[in-house]
Amino acid sequence: MSTFTVTKVRKETASSGTHRHIEGVITSAGVHYTRQEVVTSIEAGNTWQTSAGGYSATIKTVSYCPNGTCLAKPYIETVPDNTKADNLENLTEG
Ligand SMILES: [Zn+2]
Repeated sequence: MSTFTVTKVRKETASSGTHRHIEGVITSAGVHYTRQEVVTSIEAGNTWQTSAGGYSATIKTVSYCPNGTCLAKPYIETVPDNTKADNLENLTEG
């Protein structure tokens, strides 16, 4: 099993046009993965984590985008912790 470190996120405008949500992530190796690819990898037993400002947080899968009635799925988010610096939604976009 492998550990992937995410340093940037890529966002897209939701089909409803009301918000932007995560389309995928970019790892420390500079490789882009879609949400689905990350979810498939997590389900296969790999570990995904963010890294920002010296902090890290584990990425987990969730059923849908948390924004209102958005049906984008599957979706990913970081396990809540004490700092927001490493939250997936707050990473630099790339
Ligand atoms: Zn959404």
